[in-house]
Amino acid sequence: MSYDNDNIFAKILRQEAPCIPVYEDTHSFAMMDIMPQTEGHVLVIPKEAATTVYDLSAEALTACMLTVQKVGKAVEKALQVEGSSLFQLNGRVAGQTVPHAHFHVIPGSLLALKGHAAEQADPAQLQKIAEKIKATLDTE
Ligand code: AMP
Repeated sequence: MSYDNDNIFAKILRQEAPCIPVYEDTHSFAMMDIMPQTEGHVLVIPKEAATTVYDLSAEALTACMLTVQKVGKAVEKALQVEGSSLFQLNGRVAGQTVPHAHFHVIPGSLLALKGHAAEQADPAQLQKIAEKIKATLDTE
């Protein structure tokens, strides 16, 4: 499938759409999910244009995984939970709703999750959680 340059994450990366960022480095970017399935739900995305994880270069994939690890640890600390889940969907058949590769970081129990991409959270509340995660990242 060819990459859709107008998908929402491409627009966010080009700063044409807003987001609540938590971390950024040369090849990857992390932000709050605006329809979180639980408090502290963060997305890690590559800066490279890739629809699924299978389309990523080794460099971008490596950068994303290192960011998932870094941000995942900070999310657990900031939210004061001792566990988290990672998930990642490839293709519409799998349920992928945004066609730019990304990793979901979900703190806490999977049993308590809200629906996928279902309900928009209060941006002020998301910003508060983002600040906690960023403060934790700064102390690492
Ligand atoms: P997926 O279905 O795996 O492609 O997940 C896409 C995720 O992106 C969902 O969890 C959505 O809630 C989230 N999402 C959609 N639009 C935005 C946005 N503008 N900013 C942050 N997260 C978003």
